[in-house]
Amino acid sequence: MNVVKADVENCSYGIILYDNVYKDYSPKGKNILTLAISQGYDHWKEYEEEYLKGKKTAYKKEKEGMAYILIKRAEKALLPGLSKTNEIMEIGFSLTNMRYTGNYRCAVYGRDQTLDNSMPRRMPITTPIKNLYLARAWTQPGGGYGGVIGSGLMCFAEIMKYW
Ligand SMILES: Cc1cc2nc3c(=O)[nH]c(=O)nc-3n(C[C@H](O)[C@H](O)[C@H](O)COP(=O)(O)OP(=O)(O)OC[C@H]3O[C@@H](n4cnc5c(N)ncnc54)[C@H](O)[C@@H]3O)c2cc1C
Repeated sequence: MNVVKADVENCSYGIILYDNVYKDYSPKGKNILTLAISQGYDHWKEYEEEYLKGKKTAYKKEKEGMAYILIKRAEKALLPGLSKTNEIMEIGFSLTNMRYTGNYRCAVYGRDQTLDNSMPRRMPITTPIKNLYLARAWTQPGGGYGGVIGSGLMCFAEIMKYW
């Protein structure tokens, strides 16, 4: 529920350190750290209209406030001094994702993955329009990395069938 309500004070969050996976990911002597949370979209709805018009003052204040809370939480739980070592900060929330991916309400997994909207029951890859195919989280078989790789492969198979 804290996630759905975008309650950054109390929601669970992840700390991702890519340098642990890829050697030399960050410049020497530096680290790139990601603090990640999931959020429901409703909290951002009130900012959406102004955001899309490029008027972002209230939105920026809100997202910076949330980022600061997360940094403080990580600082307290795991990384003392984090807020003082920060040189560059990029903040992205649901509206950012919506802008870059075009996903309605930042639905990163596409439409609800319910039983009656998954696998063969999801929107098909083929369309009634000749040469128009759809491959993405919104289409068969579903969202997430595994889903969209499958979607791409299925789309390729459909195109080859036609050829
Ligand atoms: C923070 C985060 C963490 C996630 N973690 C996981 C995870 O752990 N496991 C998991 O399975 N899934 C995870 N997901 C979900 C997963 O990333 C998505 O379901 C998947 O990437 C969707 O793939 P897609 O091809 O539908 O869309 P996208 O990956 O969004 O790709 C669409 C592409 O189209 C481009 N585009 C948009 N509009 C245009 C245009 N007009 N012209 C040209 N290009 C355009 C976009 O820039 C983008 O590159 C996560 C998502 C997020 C945001």
